[in-house]
Amino acid sequence: MSNKVILVVVDGLKYATALGHCGFLEGQVESGKARRWRMRASLPSMSAPCYESIHTGLDPADHGITANSLLRPSTVDNVFGLASAAGKTTAAVAYSWFSVLYNAAPYEPVRDQETEDTSKPIQYGRFFDDAGRTDFHLGLPSDADLCAQVDRLLGRHRPDYLLLHTLSCDSVGHVYGGSSWQYDRSATVVDSTLGKHVPAWREAGYRVLVTADHGFTDCGYHGGTNDDVRDVAFYDIGHPSPGISDGAVSQRAVAPTVLGLMGIDIPAQMKEAPLD
Ligand SMILES: [Zn+2]
Repeated sequence: MSNKVILVVVDGLKYATALGHCGFLEGQVESGKARRWRMRASLPSMSAPCYESIHTGLDPADHGITANSLLRPSTVDNVFGLASAAGKTTAAVAYSWFSVLYNAAPYEPVRDQETEDTSKPIQYGRFFDDAGRTDFHLGLPSDADLCAQVDRLLGRHRPDYLLLHTLSCDSVGHVYGGSSWQYDRSATVVDSTLGKHVPAWREAGYRVLVTADHGFTDCGYHGGTNDDVRDVAFYDIGHPSPGISDGAVSQRAVAPTVLGLMGIDIPAQMKEAPLD
């Protein structure tokens, strides 16, 4: 089987908030169009370590990016590199850290912000950055703007794999906390924005996977091991067996799941079975 895949990473969206405040995604499950798992984020439950875990199928202890401050180019097999090497077209609308992980370091906006280079692991990239901000990431591109970028890339390049990454929930969570109405509302805004775009992505032949890198504590942090920071939802919209999977699965399963859907050989380093 060979499918085109869009992976949506909603940064910092915890499991309970996805189930409680993402009515579009839950409606896809309820109406038999999607399957949902409870996924355990890798440790530490921080962004850069989990971005790399999502794309390599390895825990931070094994891929080596064990702190945000250790952000550097990936040194192991990853979804972008493997897809590109297999002749697939890759794209991302994402935070600059993904450009550093898979394309070029350090991040240079003039060079990297709009990447169109078929020799790169991320061939078509639209990256945003928060350099110079003091309010976490508040004020970054809206979910609506990011989805418009996605639609533009889909229309121009028909990528086989596209990553959409939004920091909207994460930034609100850092300022107001994971039990605030502001955080709940930001989850609903992402969800309703996806609700506007996902049907067309499905019509265009994409499997749409939606997950998060990590969750949130009530007081606005993440990094530890408790359920609120570690549990995230994983939705597969278009899964042939819709419904809900009880029991937790590992974030290490994301990379082999994406590769399996795309018909790309799964390297031996990825020991977790693809979700099915
Ligand atoms: Zn994050």
